[in-house]
Amino acid sequence: VPELAYQNGKILPISEAMVSVEDRGYQFADAVYEVIMGSQGRPFALQKHLNRLHRSMSALDFPELSLDLVKEGILKVNEASEIPDSVIYLQVSRGNQVRSHLPEREMNPVLTITVRRADETPVRPLSPGVSAITVPDERWGRCDIKTVQLLPNAMAKTRAEKNGASDAIFLGPENVVREATSSNVFIVKDGVFYTHPLTPNILPGITREIFIQSQAKAGHEVVEEIFSVERLLGADEVFLTGTITRVLPITKVDDIPIGTGRPGPGAAAFLELLIEEIRTQK
Ligand code: PMP
Repeated sequence: VPELAYQNGKILPISEAMVSVEDRGYQFADAVYEVIMGSQGRPFALQKHLNRLHRSMSALDFPELSLDLVKEGILKVNEASEIPDSVIYLQVSRGNQVRSHLPEREMNPVLTITVRRADETPVRPLSPGVSAITVPDERWGRCDIKTVQLLPNAMAKTRAEKNGASDAIFLGPENVVREATSSNVFIVKDGVFYTHPLTPNILPGITREIFIQSQAKAGHEVVEEIFSVERLLGADEVFLTGTITRVLPITKVDDIPIGTGRPGPGAAAFLELLIEEIRTQK
């Protein structure tokens, strides 16, 4: 079975799935997306992804699209692929029209889904740690909406690679630590976890949410507050969280070692918890 796409209710090879050159996603980045991890043949945290998709579409005043239909499409194409550990990408654009900044009143959203084999199984040990650079956040003011407008993210990631680093961390005014190019940022200091609060400047990450909720259940509070790059550099641990990233220790930032320079117990504990959630997903 090849890696598959889903389009207009049909399943087909990815190379045969096409969108129009007048798709507003293509011309204006007028589209939203989700990346979902398939594990043991099932999409992990599917309802949370559907809820966030709905939130993104509402925030941009997209025409209605049945979430039941989206869900059905995801399950159908992922199942048809027979890939146990998959990466499910789904995109919804506002629709097709003759190019004009102003969207037409009645539009039909365009849904496409692809399923590919994941590079690695989500059930694998913690990374020995990677380095990151910091970059000024040049993105727009609604980073809480998951749009495909990812050029600043792609450029920051390219800058990281040129500097021999794995990722870039976006800094807001006054060197506030926001998030990385495709994941959220956590720091640990004296046993306490900190992360940026939910504002229009970061994506409400699902992995971030799973971690905060599980900590709360165990009686540990994750402090959601603004902190600067100085606090990050002085932290005991820094790690990233995301669907594809899982939990990734950052052991060096702008060439400065973090803590011991090795992954810490906070990241390890979270990974264990996340793997347990993936294994026992309902
Ligand atoms: N921030 C950004 C900018 C992202 O692109 C992602 C990946 N979707 C995340 C954070 C992490 O979100 P999630 O845990 O839902 O994958």
